[in-house]
Amino acid sequence: MTLSVRDRAVRAAVEQGLLSPAEPVTALLDVTGIRASAAALTSAFIAVTSAPVLHAFAVKACPLVPVLRLLYESGLGVEVASPGELALARAAGIPPSRTVLDSPAKTHAELRQALALGIAVNADNLQELARLDALVASAPTASPLGLRVNPQVGAGSIGALSTATATSKFGVALRDEGAREAVVQAYLDRPWLTRLHTHTGSQGIPLALMAEGVAAAYALAEEINAKAGRQQIDTLDIGGGLPVNFASDEETPTYADYARLLAETVPGLLDGRYALVTEFGRSLLAKHGTVLARVEYTKTSGGRPIAVTHAGVQIATRTVYAPESWPLRILAYDAEGRPRTGEPVVQDVAGPACFAGDLLATGRALPLLRPGDVVAVPDTGAYYFAHHYAYNSLPRPAVHGFTPTDDGGTVFVTVRPAQTLDEIVAESGGARSGVLVHEPMRDPVRDPTNEPTRDPMRDRAPDADMEA
Ligand SMILES: *Cc1c(COP(=O)(O)O)cnc(C)c1O
Repeated sequence: MTLSVRDRAVRAAVEQGLLSPAEPVTALLDVTGIRASAAALTSAFIAVTSAPVLHAFAVKACPLVPVLRLLYESGLGVEVASPGELALARAAGIPPSRTVLDSPAKTHAELRQALALGIAVNADNLQELARLDALVASAPTASPLGLRVNPQVGAGSIGALSTATATSKFGVALRDEGAREAVVQAYLDRPWLTRLHTHTGSQGIPLALMAEGVAAAYALAEEINAKAGRQQIDTLDIGGGLPVNFASDEETPTYADYARLLAETVPGLLDGRYALVTEFGRSLLAKHGTVLARVEYTKTSGGRPIAVTHAGVQIATRTVYAPESWPLRILAYDAEGRPRTGEPVVQDVAGPACFAGDLLATGRALPLLRPGDVVAVPDTGAYYFAHHYAYNSLPRPAVHGFTPTDDGGTVFVTVRPAQTLDEIVAESGGARSGVLVHEPMRDPVRDPTNEPTRDPMRDRAPDADMEA
């Protein structure tokens, strides 16, 4: 049997002890694959336009500092949407000139910081533009500034991820009564407003709908520039949202497919008059991440075989709560990390959490899993293991980057260590155990009597504890 790059990485991860009884779930990132996706994105746009393009990776898809650094070294920038994401981008050493700030709820302080740093900002709405008016007037800024519009072109197959519906919460809804005129006037009133932003949605949006959203933004930019009598809008930010194929290892649709479709449907966008920003997230990372989890027990229930593994709702939250929208493949390996063979048996693959719905997959035909086996969950590089859900105080798993070597081996580096139990306790108020019962609590380890400094009963007024 010929082993894939992933098969070899699974084998090596097991051999090198990345998966163990102490760490029964871990995550792998294919470093070569991430580089290849970044290169494919860059060359897809070079093939259709000579305009400058900033490919700003949507940090929310994989908020891990070494990943941001890898993408930056591969020629990309970042799109951030919160103070935390901006802090990650800065920790990765990504300069303001390669950073774009979007978010529907930026505070005054966030806007002020972004403008002081010179980070590009896309305002979400007209109220936010009014805040920018005051900031722009109070201090000079190098930040390119834009406005997000919602072209209201409709939804894809996943409602919660469709951002260009008639009632989406994002951007100025262009087709609402009077909105288009208000947006045009907002630009004419603000010579410093030089960008226009749209993002039609994520997973489940067909390419044609994405292109329709971009075409609507382009048409608006043309209208504004014509009314302004100059090229006031010099940059179009066309968002991200390229869907990912979760059904097989095939990477489809490709960035080249999308770039060609844009060239066909919005040729003026690519003729060099506009600089471009893109904001892809899932499509850059999803295929390059794999979760590995040990099978702890197997059983049958109502006749259905169930494998209880250590990967469940804490790393595949969307799949567990919305399995119809987010099916994941499950690959079976034995305890040594070799692909499992054997007659397929229809079985469920469960996670470790204490609620009945914690299932990674139901009714899957796989070689019958045994305790000690390893299951791999591919396509989890975006919005899965980097998006931990703290249910049952299950720890965040470690993330390891891997690179194949010429001699068929695999080298790992730790991107993020697993969360420790001490960290879980500390994040859960561990240093404040007594605050809800009396003040202030002595350290129970250093003070074995563990007595509160004041006895609240003794301090009460004499009559207070008389029984009624
Ligand atoms: C989430 C998001 C993206 C990235 O979407 P993907 O589907 O991961 O490519 C880009 N831009 C904005 C504004 C977003 O909210």
